[in-house]
Amino acid sequence: MRICVVGAGLAGALLAWRVRLADRTAEVELAGPPEPADATAASGGIVRGFEPDAALRREATASLAELHGSRLLRGWAGYRETGSVYIQAGPPPAPSDLAEMCAALPGSAVLADAPGFPDRPPAVVERRAGHISPGALRREIVADLLRIGGRRTTAPVTGLTEEPDGSLTLHHGAASAPFDLVVLAAGPWTPGLLTRLGLARDGLRTKRVQYTVHEAEHGPGAAFVDETTSLYGRPYGDHLLLGVPSDRYDVDPDDRRPEPALAHAASALARVTFPALRLGPAVRTVVAADCYHPDPGLRLRPVSGASARLSTFTGGSGGAAKTALAASRTAAEELLRLRTPA
Ligand SMILES: Cc1cc2nc3c(=O)[nH]c(=O)nc-3n(C[C@H](O)[C@H](O)[C@H](O)COP(=O)(O)OP(=O)(O)OC[C@H]3O[C@@H](n4cnc5c(N)ncnc54)[C@H](O)[C@@H]3O)c2cc1C
Repeated sequence: MRICVVGAGLAGALLAWRVRLADRTAEVELAGPPEPADATAASGGIVRGFEPDAALRREATASLAELHGSRLLRGWAGYRETGSVYIQAGPPPAPSDLAEMCAALPGSAVLADAPGFPDRPPAVVERRAGHISPGALRREIVADLLRIGGRRTTAPVTGLTEEPDGSLTLHHGAASAPFDLVVLAAGPWTPGLLTRLGLARDGLRTKRVQYTVHEAEHGPGAAFVDETTSLYGRPYGDHLLLGVPSDRYDVDPDDRRPEPALAHAASALARVTFPALRLGPAVRTVVAADCYHPDPGLRLRPVSGASARLSTFTGGSGGAAKTALAASRTAAEELLRLRTPA
């Protein structure tokens, strides 16, 4: 069986690696530029188990449990444990939700007063959470994929043809190669690629993600999301990463022009939220895009009107660094169930 995963971001790299690990007879190719300035490279890398959505929470918790269970993965990902605080604007999670998280990762989550956030409702406080470097994890996964016999091509995919025998031919400029299964995991470039291939976007859209890194003293020690203000952040060495969600959809993923209003909102909210905080100037502004879906989550999705041998694997909607380990395991199992003889 010949499988091509298009896009060597964290999602594509993990999926190709999982497939090859599960079936060493599968010919697995990972196609995409070698040192991309993509969502994975830009990612803030916050990993925690809690998400308000039950399916995402299970995936994030399973991913975190796998990270905690593997010294190798923690090393590859550069995991740093800072803990996490998640303040919900709506009703707090049910005790059974936290019990389910603790069953997967013992002692991982409690509902408690949020340390460092006076006057907020009780928050989900996780001790065993923190941040990773998604770019470093991707690099190590690609290196291991090659060690276990996967293939890597670096030319961008420009076309796709469905052959009479049902196989799919991928075109990279003048070159082309046939595959039994193709997965488009091009992150925020996926909606544009689908359109260029004459295929439906099926609700996949791009959205801007921006954060700033500041010099800071007396900032919070943990990663945090405060839904009551929309501010999120994490310690960043001896600096502080701060962001607020953007509402800009359908952006060009190659457009990296910062939005000053977003940076201003984040620093103003941080000053109000943490009265003791001494916030210095922004030393870095990171602007990128991610691929969003109305039913958020990094999933294998069929493409309407196209061959059943073609899927997308994206739609993590700004949060797939924390779910990618579990999501790629599930997707690899689904993909291998789709296999057809070469
Ligand atoms: C600024 C920012 C901060 C984030 N912070 C967090 C966080 O703190 N925690 C969290 O859980 N998640 C976070 N996320 C989300 C998470 O990082 C992303 O969901 C995840 O990295 C997406 O990975 P991906 O592989 O789907 O996409 P990408 O990393 O964008 O990879 C897509 C790849 O496809 C390639 N490609 C494009 N077109 C083609 C083509 N035609 N042919 C071949 N290859 C192609 C691109 O070069 C790229 O390498 C953040 C995202 C952003 C943008």
